[in-house]
Amino acid sequence: MNQAIRDYFRCPEDVVDFQLAGKLSADPGYFRFGPETICYGDSSSGVRRKQVMGALYDALNDVTTDGGTVHLPFDPDEIIETLRREHYWTHRQRGPTRLGERPAVWNLYYHLRPFLSVSVRKHLQRAHLSDWKEIRFPKWPLDRTVEDLLERLLVLSMKARGMHRVPFVWFWPDGATNCALMTHDVEDLAGRDFCSQLMDLDDSVGIKASFQIVPEERYPVSDTFLEEIRVRGFEINVHDLNHDGRLFADYGQFLRRAERINAYGREYGALGFRSGALYRNQAWYGALEFSYDMSVPSVAHLDPQRGGCCSQMPFFIGKILELPLTTIQDYSLFHIVNDYSADLWKQQIDAITDKHGLVSFLVHPDYIVDKRARAIYQVLLERLAWMRDERKTWIALPREVDRWWRERSKLEVVSDGGGWRVEGKGKERARLAFAVLVGDKLAFTIEEPN
Ligand SMILES: [Zn+2]
Repeated sequence: MNQAIRDYFRCPEDVVDFQLAGKLSADPGYFRFGPETICYGDSSSGVRRKQVMGALYDALNDVTTDGGTVHLPFDPDEIIETLRREHYWTHRQRGPTRLGERPAVWNLYYHLRPFLSVSVRKHLQRAHLSDWKEIRFPKWPLDRTVEDLLERLLVLSMKARGMHRVPFVWFWPDGATNCALMTHDVEDLAGRDFCSQLMDLDDSVGIKASFQIVPEERYPVSDTFLEEIRVRGFEINVHDLNHDGRLFADYGQFLRRAERINAYGREYGALGFRSGALYRNQAWYGALEFSYDMSVPSVAHLDPQRGGCCSQMPFFIGKILELPLTTIQDYSLFHIVNDYSADLWKQQIDAITDKHGLVSFLVHPDYIVDKRARAIYQVLLERLAWMRDERKTWIALPREVDRWWRERSKLEVVSDGGGWRVEGKGKERARLAFAVLVGDKLAFTIEEPN
């Protein structure tokens, strides 16, 4: 009941005490927790719906307190796990099957894909994804249901205990107010051949990125190519095995492929993985020998596999750290939404950084060879450089974020005379912070180092 909130804030143990009120239903569904937060899972009060439609039952009305204990009509650990692992999507009652969710159709598409131009592909994909505007949950183009829920739970706990402020380990190192990372999936030969120029572009504003390389079938991967990425201070990750859209189609085959993927990871010295087209099955991640994964979008309306982890912060899937993709991909922006501007990216940056989250980007070298697209990418880069210089954004390689989040996950806030301090390995970069109650919301303050 208390684990998810403790893991997220790294606050002292005795700050929260949640207890389950009543008996959980055995028919998971959607309900509300306050006016804006939608949950999915089992609860012990009211009704749950199979789809997000009409007025959902608000379980916030059933919360009671008793001393410092908050009695909840659900288990927050279970609800948050259900959202992060996208079970709400796989559990859902299936309506008429969408074209692309029929394996035979999708196989045919992938078989033909190499012979189709972007202009043909984008029409097929637009038709396939045409209903995306009608999906009510998660919320496009941004969803941070998990963090909203965690913050609301802390508010309830603070009120129950009459606390005005709670110490915790700040989310990012060195007092950065938020974090951004840039990634480049290399899809085809044209993309591979553009990587040098793309590194020049990134370097022109002092930003280092990670390159996700497809090890088999797409293009030759030479040692010289990999070495250039490494020597220039960029990062290498494994991108699928052969990117045929079938990685998660069958468990036996997945295990065989995972062995090869792991071997490429060792060969490349790669700590991170991303699947082709963001296909994923988090229940199988135990077979991947990587420190982190980047295949789970926070909102997946425009991806072939829908759903999303409803989160704008890193989280653990077993031993693997997930760095969710929190912004729209270049391909979707240009070819599905048909928007040749950086406006949506800027909107996402502002909303995510405003809440101190992780802004992660996926821009393919393949799709910015084109001058018009490249100019928009440059606008994005300049915006990120401005965020770093003026807004204390930490622009990091994924492996640096992975390392920090792992260190933070072991740090503790301990009482120190009349105050508090952060204890544990990596504490030098950590900052003590306070969650302060302002009405029904939280404000955060970061302490300066002594
Ligand atoms: Zn790809």
